[in-house]
Amino acid sequence: MRYVFAAVLIAALASSVWAGSSLIHYGMRGTDVKEIQQMLVDLGHELVVDGVFGPKTKAAVMQVQKDLGLRVDGVVGPETRAALAELREAVVSYTVQRGDNLTAIAMRYQTTVDSIVSYNNLNNPHRLLPGQVLLIPTSDLPVFGSVLYRLGGMIWPVQGRISSGYGYRTHPITKVYHFHGGIDIAVAHGTPVRAALAGKVVKAGNLGGLGLAIVIDHGNEITTWYGHNSALLVRVGDYVQQGQVIARSGRTGVATGPHLDFRIKIRDQTVDPLKYLP
Ligand SMILES: [Zn+2]
Repeated sequence: MRYVFAAVLIAALASSVWAGSSLIHYGMRGTDVKEIQQMLVDLGHELVVDGVFGPKTKAAVMQVQKDLGLRVDGVVGPETRAALAELREAVVSYTVQRGDNLTAIAMRYQTTVDSIVSYNNLNNPHRLLPGQVLLIPTSDLPVFGSVLYRLGGMIWPVQGRISSGYGYRTHPITKVYHFHGGIDIAVAHGTPVRAALAGKVVKAGNLGGLGLAIVIDHGNEITTWYGHNSALLVRVGDYVQQGQVIARSGRTGVATGPHLDFRIKIRDQTVDPLKYLP
């Protein structure tokens, strides 16, 4: 459970660039070894950062390689090094201070309590002990960015003016101040709606407020949502290519006029699509 992002990270490796080419292995000493040890410590491994590649360092490297599905040889080559760097970007270790609680920690790192609980397999999240080390997924951004990188990036599902952004707003119909989990893109009725990324259709039908909507699963717990359509052109179970027309826009569900409500969810949480669209 520690490396829940493993699949994503491995995918990112192919595109990771590492200038060096030497291998760092058992018996070596020096700043290169120190750097690797520091990365391992940042990831929650208990090591002394002394620049000596001993049995403990090797065991930690092998553990990471095993968790990530890499070749388990205890040798830090370009692939393992890139994996460590990528992991460190996505995860930090945090030592619990007196008076801390998970909500505050989650807020500080822009993540969720659930993420921290599941990442650390916490049995009793309400009993944090000072000195306890937690691994914190720092942000969904680097991880999701990796996926986008592998897939060549997301494309706009439609072209149009953004009539309502992501975040808190007063709903135009209900007048209730609430969180808007997507962006509304104003388009003419019947405009082709395209898949922002390739994936598998997991919902296609009436989703209440979103009206006739499509949900595409892109793997790695990432889904995109397309709401308020007038017609749906794909079915649950279909695999769609990026750019494939999946629906025609409309104003079904709760909508004042024809527009596409586009959402991105990571692990069931919405994120701001504008961070990921080109
Ligand atoms: Zn909307």
